[in-house]
Amino acid sequence: MAPITITPIDDDKVSDLTAQGIEHALSKTKPHNGVATSGELDASLLTTSLTTSPRPVPAIGSAEMASQKICTDHMIQAKWTEEEGWAAPSLQPYGPLSLMPTSSCLHYATQCFEGMKLYRGHDGKLRLFRPELNCKRMLMSTTRIALPAFPPAELLKLIVKLCATDGEKWLPKDRAGAFLYIRPAMIGTDFALGVQRPREALLLVMLTCFAPMDDIPGGAKLLASQDDMCRAWPGGFGYAKVGANYGPSLVAQGEAREKGFHQILWLFGEDCTITEAGASNFFVVWRTKEGKVQIVTADLDEKIVLDGVTRRSVLELLRTRLASSSPAVEGLEPVEVVERKFTMFEIEEAYREGRFIEAFAAGTAWFIAPVGHIQFRGNDLAIPMGDDGEGGKYTTVVKRWLKNIMWGQDEGVGNEWGFIVEEA
Ligand SMILES: *Cc1c(COP(=O)(O)O)cnc(C)c1O
Repeated sequence: MAPITITPIDDDKVSDLTAQGIEHALSKTKPHNGVATSGELDASLLTTSLTTSPRPVPAIGSAEMASQKICTDHMIQAKWTEEEGWAAPSLQPYGPLSLMPTSSCLHYATQCFEGMKLYRGHDGKLRLFRPELNCKRMLMSTTRIALPAFPPAELLKLIVKLCATDGEKWLPKDRAGAFLYIRPAMIGTDFALGVQRPREALLLVMLTCFAPMDDIPGGAKLLASQDDMCRAWPGGFGYAKVGANYGPSLVAQGEAREKGFHQILWLFGEDCTITEAGASNFFVVWRTKEGKVQIVTADLDEKIVLDGVTRRSVLELLRTRLASSSPAVEGLEPVEVVERKFTMFEIEEAYREGRFIEAFAAGTAWFIAPVGHIQFRGNDLAIPMGDDGEGGKYTTVVKRWLKNIMWGQDEGVGNEWGFIVEEA
């Protein structure tokens, strides 16, 4: 088997979690149970069969587009078995899967996924945003849920191939500023019903139509989770994108939606530590008691928070562009950028003392969504949304930077954040 080389992601603590996960996973790409894996996942073996019944592309703003049910014409599949390793991947027409009813994923949550976007730039080019980070995180997640390892670079090649195949039709050049949502997933397909590590698995990649979710009039309304429920806990798996994290959160989310909230603000423990907002990382901007502007998000140390690519990018941008004594944006004060444990009580205190500036959620699906309201134990906090009501100053600047990188008007920190997908 060819050695897999992983380039270190970043030097600071932010990447520790993923890096650890990857090391652990790579130690597992060695022969599975002593059987040499003849088949490593290899994108160069891809077979292609194009659809004979192409589907219509929904109009921007249509109900179909918002339904999140419409996928593009094609998908990627790759099968893995313990004996043979990875079979040649295929690009094939999008359609239903055939699974045995006893398949592991249907009973024991042997499943994980990723979420990325394909952007049609204002320069006409198709781009991914730091996709290598998603591919590495997927490996960390598969490892956590006893699914097979693979070289992340090969997954990236498969994603790129699918995007190049369907991008031109589904994200045409006259839709500059639009995107498709990319969903890689892996499921355990072993149909032995016993509770055990799956000996068969299936890798999937699909592209879905998705409406933007970041422009909520008045900002996102968050309901802080109650004492009887948490999303993740130390020693658990909240840091991995495994399906098992999401199903059980839907009771609370459903109740929140019924009450008019968009997402749960997930707290942990008696001290009400802030973790995440729905499936997005959560940032607050406040003034410290000493009078400095500080941007805070939960640290990754306890592994109860997902290491978001958006989160990481926001931190890197802020540290590069706003942390110095002369910030890159006029009218903004220098900020202190902090990853640490912080609590709902600190938010309440800052709010009471008039030090709370703004808050936002950050993730691929919701992008940078300004938060306009938090309810905690029946107490409502109206969060400032800026002069125009579209989000505070810091939120707006971060969002603009990221937008410009994703749609090709800025290169980001260290140039390589926008990954161009060459079209045929
Ligand atoms: C996917 C996800 C995020 C956001 O991660 P990105 O890489 O920025 O999309 C945050 N929290 C949870 C729980 C998630 O599942």
